[in-house]
Amino acid sequence: MRIINSVVEMQQQADRWRAEGKKIALVPTMGYLHEGHLSLMRAVRNRADAVVASIFVNPTQFGPNEDLERYPRDFERDGKLSESVGVDVIFAPQPADMYPSGYQTYVEVTDVTGPLCGGSRPGHFRGVATVVAKLFNIVEPHMAIFGEKDYQQLTVIRRMVADLNMNIEIIGYPIVREHDDLAMSSRNVYLSAEQRGKALRLNLALKEAQGLIDKGERQSDSILARVREVLQPGEDVRIDYAQICRPDTLEDLTRVDDRALLALAVYVGATRLIDNRILTARS
Ligand code: AMP
Repeated sequence: MRIINSVVEMQQQADRWRAEGKKIALVPTMGYLHEGHLSLMRAVRNRADAVVASIFVNPTQFGPNEDLERYPRDFERDGKLSESVGVDVIFAPQPADMYPSGYQTYVEVTDVTGPLCGGSRPGHFRGVATVVAKLFNIVEPHMAIFGEKDYQQLTVIRRMVADLNMNIEIIGYPIVREHDDLAMSSRNVYLSAEQRGKALRLNLALKEAQGLIDKGERQSDSILARVREVLQPGEDVRIDYAQICRPDTLEDLTRVDDRALLALAVYVGATRLIDNRILTARS
């Protein structure tokens, strides 16, 4: 496995692979890898000749009061884990190389960045779309894989790729969970033991919602009222949003008649957790 820090070197490696007719897969990450990330890497290992994992804590997707500075990092461990699942190259650029002085170009995806995390993290998806577009131009992948854990992010990337005619296959991968069903996240290390217990309420609320639908409930308001009860907001737990929306456009749905996305963002202590589930109603 090679570690490449330089943008130009990465592009040269990608050009060589392309000249040899190799299929390139990209797994964009912010590092501090866990089983969720490794699953994405394994999933593309079988489909591509060259697998690149990028590790870059992207400053443009963090708001001024967010956790950019304290975001967990362990590059050495990330290297070992990536190698163990067959990654060929880790691309780990420096912020100053990705955004040199004078930088002024951003990618703005409009409607699908409005709701959910777009409401509480202004500018977040502009940073995400921009860095992913840059990574696509640097790594020149034929395919890139993203987790459904960040459902809106996946939607934004699919929209960008379609709208800007990027010739890259976007693969979505299901949420990987801990043994107790907490969605894996690099941010879970922020949680105390007590907070971690409270964090389990997110998945319980998602399951409860599907349970109500199975019993015949169709009204989003009633389902969301029960979701809020299960989340038990109070000391140490604050709901940022709990919303039911269309899985493709992320527009609000007042009823669940077929498939709907239930998306949650909840602060447990100072840690903002997200989780989601596709709700299905059988008619
Ligand atoms: P991050 O390092 O948090 O930016 O995540 C990098 C990629 O891994 C994104 O495509 C995420 O959606 C994906 N990912 C993170 N956590 C999980 C998880 N628990 N299950 C599946 N994919 C995940």
